[in-house]
Amino acid sequence: MIPILDLKRQYLQTGEKIEKAVIEVLKSGSYILGANNKALQEEFAKYVGTNFSLGLNSGTDALHLALRALDIGKGDEVITTAFTFVATASAIGLSGATPVFVDSVEGTFNIDADKIEAAITPKTKAIIPVHLYGQACDMDKIMAIAKKHNLKVVEDCCQAIGAEYKGKKVGSFGDFGCFSFFPTKNLGGMGDGGMITMNDEKLRDRILALRNHGGAIRYYHDELGVNSRLDEIQAAILRVKMPYIDEWNAKRRENAYRYNKLFEKYSEIITPKELENTYCVYHQYTIKVKNRDEVYKMLQEKGIGAMIYYPVPLHLQKLHKSLGYKEGDLPVTEKNTHMVMSLPMFPELTEEEQQTIVNTVVECVYRKVTA
Ligand SMILES: *Cc1c(COP(=O)(O)O)cnc(C)c1O
Repeated sequence: MIPILDLKRQYLQTGEKIEKAVIEVLKSGSYILGANNKALQEEFAKYVGTNFSLGLNSGTDALHLALRALDIGKGDEVITTAFTFVATASAIGLSGATPVFVDSVEGTFNIDADKIEAAITPKTKAIIPVHLYGQACDMDKIMAIAKKHNLKVVEDCCQAIGAEYKGKKVGSFGDFGCFSFFPTKNLGGMGDGGMITMNDEKLRDRILALRNHGGAIRYYHDELGVNSRLDEIQAAILRVKMPYIDEWNAKRRENAYRYNKLFEKYSEIITPKELENTYCVYHQYTIKVKNRDEVYKMLQEKGIGAMIYYPVPLHLQKLHKSLGYKEGDLPVTEKNTHMVMSLPMFPELTEEEQQTIVNTVVECVYRKVTA
């Protein structure tokens, strides 16, 4: 049995320090917006390369509050990809705006920047590029389109902490960068958590107010806000883990390249592509195969924890029925959703396990093909 992700192995490396850090928080009597949150915000902004960053409850809140801070809401349209986790689009819905889905590309699975302009209308206010599976979007093209049409850019970096485009970290290109510390992400807490990055001081102040009931000064409320803060226990845990993130991402890349090499001679198995000049952090290692559903089932039976991210693209979800999309509207995305399968990927995955996974995948794919 090889799981898609094994967090217990990471705990062997960091557990002792985490236990110490958590006990210190428990003894401190300060549990919300204390010293750990403040320090983590500074460390995080420095890491991503932005002026500021603010701790929040979740990545979903980061996306939602980013749109609110940009005054995007009812009557506005926000362009994004349909090939992502639902939270990207629910954040748009929660703001009151309407998501507009653009097709994605075959190789990297990310939004097709060449199809964005055709989706722009007078109502379009922003683009949310999603750096899916840890792979940076084509940010040169996206930022140029945004500039030309006067649109805001909110980066969904929930799967991509540490990923780079032309030497710059994702989350430092747009008006906001949104990060998640859900336990399974490359940098995960031990509960929910999120972070938002920005360069503009006014936008920072808006998020400061929005995360705290719509007022920067306690008991004075200027607008409708929410309660969305990163708690001290999570912040302390994340501060223990932050120094390891580059090492962990580097190991994920090594594992990805090992998979690529092992799959090299099997043309029925399509391995993931990286854009030139990017640093992909392989939140997922996602292959494409025909007869994916049968292969997936066979792997489950053989104890390989493969997963399908995501089986239904967002434009075809019941949630978005009222938007009027139909099958065939986003052909590349739809084709990808029928073929993708993510394999076990984490820094501690061993060479031996990878060999077993590859052998099993090859056996299942080829048995299916020749059957
Ligand atoms: C995980 C994730 C989110 C949401 O993050 P939460 O912290 O779980 O709210 C948003 N977008 C993408 C692409 C994600 O993978």
